[in-house]
Amino acid sequence: MWPWNHVALGYLLYTGLTRARSGEPPGDVATLWLLLGTQLPDLIDKSLAWTVGLVPSGRMLVHTLFVAVPACWLVYRYWSRLGRPERGVAFGVGYLSHVFGDAIGSLLIGETAYVRFLIWPLLSVPEDSQESIIGEFTEIELALSPGLAVHGVAGMGFVLLWLYDGAPGAAAVRRYVGRRGHVGRWENRR
Ligand SMILES: [Zn+2]
Repeated sequence: MWPWNHVALGYLLYTGLTRARSGEPPGDVATLWLLLGTQLPDLIDKSLAWTVGLVPSGRMLVHTLFVAVPACWLVYRYWSRLGRPERGVAFGVGYLSHVFGDAIGSLLIGETAYVRFLIWPLLSVPEDSQESIIGEFTEIELALSPGLAVHGVAGMGFVLLWLYDGAPGAAAVRRYVGRRGHVGRWENRR
């Protein structure tokens, strides 16, 4: 899955969860933790695999559930102790939706071997094929067709939903940018 797919999937799950639990849209800072959770697995694993060449697969060290679950638990515990458990929940939803999104994506296209990362190192993971990675990038340029249209409509739908929720996360970024040059804490909001 592409980074924006992970963002959309994580956000859909999280806004559904928060609305079901409290009837309210996602919180401002919590949404940024959700965003971090949706991107962190690839930022670490794909950097180690594709940039540094330290591991053979971009879904390995921090994609496995043996790391993902404890990591989410630690972040949740940290924020719970600070009285902001929602931020930990958001991070966990983002992180786990990324991992399972990758697995489901591979299953849907029949690449079952690529699901083994879920329980690495109990099962080995196949080495990433550079050809398939390059192919994915090329596909984006060539697929100016129904597939791209579907992605466009889905993307618009996601943006509209985010705006409907009050654009959570945007205010926190504005506050942070507005405070550049000052040593300050982010406002304590959800
Ligand atoms: Zn991934």
